[in-house]
Amino acid sequence: MNTVAALAFLGLVLLSVAGWLWGPAWWRARRRARVQRQPFPRAWRRILRRRMPAFALLPPDIQQRIKKIAQILIAEKPFIGCAGVRINDEMRVLVAAQAALLLLGGRGGYYRNLRQVLIYPGAFVVDRIGSDAAGLAQESRRVLAGESWQEGQVILSWDDVLAGAADPGDGRNVVIHEFAHQLDQDHGRANGAPWLGRHGDYGRWSAVLGHEYAQLQQRLARGEGGLIDPYAATDAAEFFAVVSELFFEQPAALAQAHPELHAELAAYYGVDPRLW
Ligand SMILES: [Zn+2]
Repeated sequence: MNTVAALAFLGLVLLSVAGWLWGPAWWRARRRARVQRQPFPRAWRRILRRRMPAFALLPPDIQQRIKKIAQILIAEKPFIGCAGVRINDEMRVLVAAQAALLLLGGRGGYYRNLRQVLIYPGAFVVDRIGSDAAGLAQESRRVLAGESWQEGQVILSWDDVLAGAADPGDGRNVVIHEFAHQLDQDHGRANGAPWLGRHGDYGRWSAVLGHEYAQLQQRLARGEGGLIDPYAATDAAEFFAVVSELFFEQPAALAQAHPELHAELAAYYGVDPRLW
């Protein structure tokens, strides 16, 4: 009986090993390794040089990692042109290379829920029907540079993607903003708290970001300006997306004015752009 049980156990072990070997995770890892073994095309390098001046100033190892991550994103995420846009490599490379910045720490996977990236030529209009406090249907019309949906979709204005990449120090970057939302939406609704990893300290995260969010609202109520764009006061999800833009584009100013916030984001993103 013992022998039968041992054999059955061994069979189960072999089955699960085979399941892992031939399972989707194994195939995905194999496919990704193959993509990353390909050289980064020279034409793509030229695109980065021309359209993303900050890229050439990054340390060589960071440049290399961004290229490897971008190759995976370009291979896996379909880009769809809207309102007459014809998708080209310039769009794929510029969006993927900037979105790769947020994945350098290895925490975010490869935007696992993201199914497609939609690109409009410029700012786009969104009509949305919601209901007001009295339950009456209300239509709102907004002009957007970008949007991120929980259902795995990022929508970007190409004009704004270009502007964000052209000026790496103005603290505004629509790709970083929308892909920060994607990270936030990776494990449920966007709430300003992305998945922090198995040992993540959510208590500290919400204490630090909650405090900074409350301080921003108080400053705005007093009519005071500051480093953080007032749009961050919309809700916790927008706060995370807006301070992520600052973290990558104005890291020294963010660290000086909001050291705890900077430290929390540096721990989450696994990099410190002040050193670049
Ligand atoms: Zn947003």
